[in-house]
Amino acid sequence: MLEIKNLHARIAEDGTEIIRGLNLTVKAGEVAAIMGPNGSGKSTLSYILSGREDYEVTEGEILYNGESILELDPAERAAKGIFLAFQYPVEIPGVATMQFLKVAMNEQRKARGEAELTTPDFMRRVKEASAELKIAPEMLRRPLNVGFSGGEKKRAEILQMSLLEPKLCVLDETDSGLDIDALKIVADGVNALRSPDRAVIVITHYQRLLDYIVPDTVHVLYKGQVIKSGDKTLAHELEANGYADIIGAAAA
Ligand code: ADP
Ligand code: MG
Ligand code: MG
Repeated sequence: MLEIKNLHARIAEDGTEIIRGLNLTVKAGEVAAIMGPNGSGKSTLSYILSGREDYEVTEGEILYNGESILELDPAERAAKGIFLAFQYPVEIPGVATMQFLKVAMNEQRKARGEAELTTPDFMRRVKEASAELKIAPEMLRRPLNVGFSGGEKKRAEILQMSLLEPKLCVLDETDSGLDIDALKIVADGVNALRSPDRAVIVITHYQRLLDYIVPDTVHVLYKGQVIKSGDKTLAHELEANGYADIIGAAAA
């Protein structure tokens, strides 16, 4: 589903190279974890996947279902089913969460050439998805993320994700200091999304999240490259021994 080949990317503003020859393959049906020390380029990779203009790809390729996405803008990527959830959710004052969701879903349908959802259809879907995530209807009437607790922000994020029915989900949870409740919300949401035709990339600093979301593959990112890949046991190894051994082995 996703094939990243020898990717090099730099910060557009000052030309600093952050991603330095990164290779990564994620198959449909897979949950892949990306781990790595702070400053390795994990968040940068997720921004590049989303198509943010602050970064320039200078070399290499990102193929999604065999097609390059490098020339697509963020909306076009979203329309193709790529969903990015970020560490710092944006607050949208003045727009009820419900309204935001409706606009987001219809924007995506429009980009896919599908008809707008009718209000009853939309209401039914939101009701089902929010019940599953234990989201109170009252929360949906409040402006998105404004004054939401950490757990509510996570729920809102997972709700957006499940309503948009993405094919490739990227969740950047690094350094966000999720408490145990928020961690479980994310894990339940991701686990509910597991399906043979969907891939999930979970970026995390902490092995703890991977106790709840058991990944199929684990990749260690360091200085803009994947320096080691393995199965879920790699995450346990990292928790026990830290990154030093792997970094040392990769440098040798
Ligand atoms: P990680 O998510 O693995 O902690 P990041 O992708 O956030 O790493 O950052 C990788 C490196 O790139 C860091 O040294 C960071 O300071 C730098 N960096 C990323 N984006 C920018 C930017 N827009 N401006 C300046 N430095 C950046
Ligand atoms: Mg960081
Ligand atoms: Mg980060």
